[in-house]
Amino acid sequence: MRAVVYNGPRDVAVKNVPDAQLERPTDVLVRITSTNICGSDLHMYEGRTDFEQGRIFGHENLGEVVEVGDAVDRVKVGDLVVLPFNIGCGFCKNCEKGLSAFCLTTANPGMAGAAYGFADMGPYQGGQAELLRVPYGDYNCLLLPPDAREQEADYVMVADIFPTGWHVTRLAGLCPGESVVIYGAGPVGLMAAHAAMIQGACMVMVVDRHADRLRLAESIGAIAIDDSQVNPVERVLELTNGLGADRGCECVGYQCHDHHGKEIPGLTMNNLVKSVKFTGGIGVVGVFVPKDPGAPTQLAKKGEIPFDWGMLWFRGQHVGTGQCNVKAYNRQLRDLIAVGRAKPSFIVSHHLPLDEAPDAYKNFDERNDGWTKVILHPST
Ligand code: NAD
Ligand code: ZN
Repeated sequence: MRAVVYNGPRDVAVKNVPDAQLERPTDVLVRITSTNICGSDLHMYEGRTDFEQGRIFGHENLGEVVEVGDAVDRVKVGDLVVLPFNIGCGFCKNCEKGLSAFCLTTANPGMAGAAYGFADMGPYQGGQAELLRVPYGDYNCLLLPPDAREQEADYVMVADIFPTGWHVTRLAGLCPGESVVIYGAGPVGLMAAHAAMIQGACMVMVVDRHADRLRLAESIGAIAIDDSQVNPVERVLELTNGLGADRGCECVGYQCHDHHGKEIPGLTMNNLVKSVKFTGGIGVVGVFVPKDPGAPTQLAKKGEIPFDWGMLWFRGQHVGTGQCNVKAYNRQLRDLIAVGRAKPSFIVSHHLPLDEAPDAYKNFDERNDGWTKVILHPST
């Protein structure tokens, strides 16, 4: 089968690799029709992790079931399914509580949580390929309605970034009628803005510097704050009568720049604390990975960032963080799409065949104008 594989830093190739196949009786085999490139793929792409050469990328996957193992009895051949990026077992003590991002069965030894095509998150191959093996298929496949084919661009967002955008608003504790500031207008930040609008936020402010991304935020009714033009903290305080937003969301991660474009790990976290009201809530879903895992003097080594804990304490805020438990939200978000109340595909900029993945990775990694979200189509 054809697949997008990692060659080395900023180098991916589309190659012929052995077909994915059933390995265990609980597995399901899916022919992938839509698979996204994610900001999280860039941690591996840029060489910031120990992702092995030859590994297949892709954790935002949707496709048709083509084969099921003997122990699978809910999912059937021909079903159209979207797969949560977390691979859960459904029966460990974390999955039982709905914390499928922290599955103890599928993770590497001593860790919690697994994903397709991801460094440090189990040996699983990704879905930027013609076929994908889905472990614990009955648990991990979310069935889509029969007419979902025409709306794949919406439903594929349920694999990761729509639930993640929803999750960060829940971590922040957003309630209807409250205001929220979102740092980062990448795909995750834009999904957080979409989620906040659906949940009835009275004001959604989105901070970034990319005009194309800020325009998308405005297209759904959010207030765009261009931090290359204004100080984002001052602007949020201005818009909230000097009080700060009720809630704040971090959707940037390590790739955090000041207004000159200089990388400053920790800037968004410190800005968030100052942009959110006393006693407000903050959600953090951005991933903090070292820029260079080997460099001993690297500031962001092991994800460390300079953070003003005293300011957080003084303001009495609470912070929630971590990977999104996609299973906790995916049914509900699928159903919001089905009835037309959610339309996460508004961020999609490109539909491309698998062979164009190298060029797409390069453009998305450089945040080039107009490259907001790429969907690859390995098969139709
Ligand atoms: P992205 O890199 O495309 O978007 C990040 C955006 O942040 C960019 O548009 C960038 O211009 C902006 N930015 C940079 N510095 C900023 C600053 N100081 N203030 C405001 N904005 C700033 O990535 P994405 O796909 O949107 O993902 C965002 C983060 O979420 C990544 O770290 C990704 O790994 C993570 N993520 C986490 C989960 C989870 O489950 N927790 C799931 C998916 C993605
Ligand atoms: Zn993702």
